[in-house]
Amino acid sequence: MTKINTVLGPIDSSNLGFTLSHEHICNGFGGSPFTFPEFLDIEATLERASIDLLEAKDEGLKTIMDVAPHDQGRNIKLQQEVSKRSGINIITCTGTWLDVPRFFEGLHPNKIATLYIREIEEGIEGTEVKASIIKVASDKGGVKPQEELVLRAAARASKSTGVPIMTHTWAPDRIGEEQVRIFKEENLDMNLVCIGHSNDSTDIQYLTGLLEQGVWLGMDRYPGGQLGTPLWKQRTKIIKSLIELGWGHRIMLAHDWDSSIGLHSPEFRAAREAYNPDNYLFITRNVLPYLRQLGATNTDIENLTTHNPQKYLEGTR
Ligand SMILES: [Zn+2]
Repeated sequence: MTKINTVLGPIDSSNLGFTLSHEHICNGFGGSPFTFPEFLDIEATLERASIDLLEAKDEGLKTIMDVAPHDQGRNIKLQQEVSKRSGINIITCTGTWLDVPRFFEGLHPNKIATLYIREIEEGIEGTEVKASIIKVASDKGGVKPQEELVLRAAARASKSTGVPIMTHTWAPDRIGEEQVRIFKEENLDMNLVCIGHSNDSTDIQYLTGLLEQGVWLGMDRYPGGQLGTPLWKQRTKIIKSLIELGWGHRIMLAHDWDSSIGLHSPEFRAAREAYNPDNYLFITRNVLPYLRQLGATNTDIENLTTHNPQKYLEGTR
């Protein structure tokens, strides 16, 4: 039995249940919860997230991985409150997203790793909440030097703690391959790596190429269709193809959704609602029935939604 830290303390990994591997309660920016608390309407966000996750719980959801680190506006106390109100386990992260602090420049990766390790072993922002994932990000056009630095720091923190890494990528530019190359240079066990946002691509060669390197794949953006990326049915067909090729045991699902209510205009929010009216339930209500229609079995679905996230977090295979 393995204990996995959630924002409300450790739980047995066998109790994680139906898990979405890449979601957020809220999004912001470095320091936003403390410096510009009015950026996000905390009460409204808390209420919205709790209602949506309670509804998702009724339809089978048990756990989400909230993969917003410090520079994405992580708010630990909000995550705790949402978890209490909704009954959904929330697993939180350390690491750095796309806004790598300028002051990291010139630091040795080991020094940055100690920051992540402290959030994993001791706690985050004065709380006893411990991170169970290390989030790192690289985007369009390739891994930038400051992003490479945090990838290397994350690899070292993962090697030291056994906590797995979750990446943000831009799959149309095959950024996952660059991340794998850097992690391999760090001699990291690829079983501790999930290459995220991989369902922004339908290039089966790219996807199987990554899987052959030993990583997990996060098919973690739904419904999709933004910036010319595949629509949800195309995304789902690719998952079915990967299952047929024998990779159903290495894939996890999520939406990359969040419940933020803040300074954005009502029109902005309405557009988001229209994009995904099912919020954290789009997969349950649309993707899984369609996967079954395509021929996926209950075992396939259980692997994607339950067994794979459990193994990823445990560091087992
Ligand atoms: Zn995200």
